Amino acid sequence: MRRPYIAGNWKMNMTPSKGAAFAAELAKAVKEAGVDCKIMIAPPFVTIPAVVEAVKGSNIIVAAQNMNDHTSGAYTGEVAPDMLKDLGVTTVILGHSERRSYYGESNEFINKKVKLALAEKMEVVLCVGETLEEREAGKLESVLSSQIVDGLKDVAAEEMKAITIAYEPVWAIGTGKTATPEDADAAHAFIRSVVKKMFNSDIAENLIIQYGGSVNASNAKALMAKENIDGALVGGASLSVEKFLPVLTFNK
Ligand code: PEP
Repeated sequence: MRRPYIAGNWKMNMTPSKGAAFAAELAKAVKEAGVDCKIMIAPPFVTIPAVVEAVKGSNIIVAAQNMNDHTSGAYTGEVAPDMLKDLGVTTVILGHSERRSYYGESNEFINKKVKLALAEKMEVVLCVGETLEEREAGKLESVLSSQIVDGLKDVAAEEMKAITIAYEPVWAIGTGKTATPEDADAAHAFIRSVVKKMFNSDIAENLIIQYGGSVNASNAKALMAKENIDGALVGGASLSVEKFLPVLTFNK
């Protein structure tokens, strides 16, 4: 039985003071509602310390949205894994489609970061997903396959327990368009089959695969009801308690 894992990606939203106030409100609401899934929020780097402080004593995990592929050195403007760990952050989102498309991150580059995060004993949410053009050209499976095979290259079987995959069709992110639960489930089943081929059926069966792309209060339950959908990576709807709590309580 896979435990549902729901995450909020704040992207470039929330100053430290706003983020801390919101996170404290969220922690209170989560406790009162008795949310029983694994919960993660990923604020911008500078907002992380205030949010870590605000959720202390709660079951909310604070993650980073990205990190550098080196441990230290002359990389102006970048953030290293041990800087995150020093703040108590041990989870990182890697390969988000906005990093891939706006900042040119390739599968090979993302793989470097995945391996570094694992070496640093961090958990990773690895994002994969096709563009509309790729889907319409019949390339869904080949795109997902290379994002997974290249993204997880040289990852050891025993490290896979630290990996979550987020399937985020690019055309559904921030657009209000959601993949149907059936389409999303089929993509998740495919992802599981790729992981099974790379590793083994045990690892594939235990792998948490989140769906991301305009998840909200009205579609979370139907998506989460699907066999291969184990959680959600939520952008826009993770920015207020009013919108995020119904997603976190999809099973109530
Ligand atoms: C995301 O940022 O990963 C995302 C899925 O965004 P949204 O929920 O706004 O589509």
